[in-house]
Amino acid sequence: MSTAPSGPGDAIRAESAHAEPLRANAWGPCYVTAACVGCGLCAAVAPANFGVTFDGAYYGVTYQPNGEHEQRALREAMAACPQQCIHDDGDTDCPKPR
Ligand code: SF4
Repeated sequence: MSTAPSGPGDAIRAESAHAEPLRANAWGPCYVTAACVGCGLCAAVAPANFGVTFDGAYYGVTYQPNGEHEQRALREAMAACPQQCIHDDGDTDCPKPR
């Protein structure tokens, strides 16, 4: 009986897969990666911008933040996320959470 090889390459590939943005994210600079554990905290903090995926396993950015209030809420969700899997590739210059 053979077993799958395990080594540094496998760990790097697994980490890389977790860094992939979910396909459920709305198009734009803000996104959630596959490292999400579906806790729902982001949707509690920023309900206008996050929603659960169709299978209930993850949350994604359903609407990109629009306006200072939503940008601030998204930043707060980023700071609160236990997996640190909410990212913003844009340069929004929105206020940081206090
Ligand atoms: S807070 Fe982070 S881990 Fe929890 S559901 Fe939202 S994106 Fe996923």
